[in-house]
Amino acid sequence: MAETAKPLTMDTIVSLCRRRGFVFPSSEIYGGIGSTYDYGHYGVLTKNNIRSLWFGAMVQERDDIVALDSAIILNPRVWEASGHVAGFTDPLVDCRTCKLRFRADQLELASCGRKPSKHPGETPDCDLTEPRQFNLMFETHVGALQDESSLAYLRPETAQGIFVNFKNVAQLARRKPPFGIAQVGKSFRNEITPGNFLFRLREFEQMEMEFFVPPGEADEWHAYWIEARRQWYLDLGLRQVNLRVREHDANERSHYSLATSDLEYLYPIGWQELEGVANRGEYDLTQHTRESGTKLEWIDPDGTRYTPYVIEPAVSIDRIMLAFLCDAYDEEVVGDRKRVVLRLHPRVAPVKAAILPLIPRDEGMATRARALYEELRPHHQVEHDESGQIGRRYRRQDEIGTPWAFTVDEQTLEDETVTVRDRDSLAQERLPLSGVREWLDDALVQEWRSPRSP
Ligand code: ATP
Repeated sequence: MAETAKPLTMDTIVSLCRRRGFVFPSSEIYGGIGSTYDYGHYGVLTKNNIRSLWFGAMVQERDDIVALDSAIILNPRVWEASGHVAGFTDPLVDCRTCKLRFRADQLELASCGRKPSKHPGETPDCDLTEPRQFNLMFETHVGALQDESSLAYLRPETAQGIFVNFKNVAQLARRKPPFGIAQVGKSFRNEITPGNFLFRLREFEQMEMEFFVPPGEADEWHAYWIEARRQWYLDLGLRQVNLRVREHDANERSHYSLATSDLEYLYPIGWQELEGVANRGEYDLTQHTRESGTKLEWIDPDGTRYTPYVIEPAVSIDRIMLAFLCDAYDEEVVGDRKRVVLRLHPRVAPVKAAILPLIPRDEGMATRARALYEELRPHHQVEHDESGQIGRRYRRQDEIGTPWAFTVDEQTLEDETVTVRDRDSLAQERLPLSGVREWLDDALVQEWRSPRSP
């Protein structure tokens, strides 16, 4: 097997996602809408896996974090109190020549409208305006009247829904700091610089966890969550060479942050924030206490009162999915043919196993393959495929990252065994048909590391 070493481009990932039905541009038949994508079958399955792995690590496997699902449209005063109405802005510049609009602090990620090989401002024809602040929140109106009094916003982050529920949850969850509240849901930002596929969307699915701690423990918990989140990615097979922690310097931090470290991934567009882990201090609870008049504080049994500090790991499923796809994408030559393979962690992979009758029109093979598929599918996402040459069927599964294929062949008819083919090593071994279910259950809980570089 020879590796075909070419630097990975975003276009390669975009075209695989399209070809195999992971992700498509949204409302495509009308020309699409910038930075908005729809997820197809395998995309949805992969997203579901990422969401449930995050939820497993954050909620199910811990005693100190509970779940919440707050509304997308909140009372607009929430966003005034949080500082988003005044300050959730990016600096934008317009180019008077090509009429495109760019984020002033990210010109190196954008392409010039006239000369796409150059960045905005790099050609003599570029004529950029001075930067001005642009609020990223989408506005809407609630109720029948469309005036100032009905103005509301689509949430730009899920975190505020957690802060405004602090009192409810702290009372009902019977937890005391340190404890956390986790939430997954859509967030919306009218991003200025579209492009870069799933990396920067106008509508994305955020996963945020706000961890409330006694102020004196904040630094320790901040360090703890940076490492816990880093390890989560490594356990899910992300290659260490492509993941790093970068601490923000003081002038880069958001208005609420006392300290922030990003987990950065080496995307095809360079090192970029995958997940942020911030120490938000007491900023949010204090702001909402002041603006709402409801005290969002903690009272210990001995009567001591304090406003907890908040440690927040925040990420979107979309950025994780893009990182996993980029990390997993591989091409190699097997025999004399190129093979595209997604070396996804089996627990992230959309389909866990394919069940393939070698000769679909052979009734003995067809019946056994179908029976195996029906035995496995209540337990795992598996696929039964009987269309086309076996080689083509393997390749299709390789491209969507299916870790194993069980093939029912002539020998199955003689001794009731099947072949299991491993996506990464291409090794094949035989298993008794009756043992496949247990074998797959077991394979899915094993550790997995990418066969590529660590
Ligand atoms: P950036 O600097 O890239 O705009 P940010 O610092 O504004 O990101 P946060 O507000 O910290 O991002 O959001 C937390 C997480 O939500 C990010 O780490 C990222 O995973 C995700 N996220 C934020 N904006 C987007 C977006 N437009 N599309 C997809 N995911 C996003």
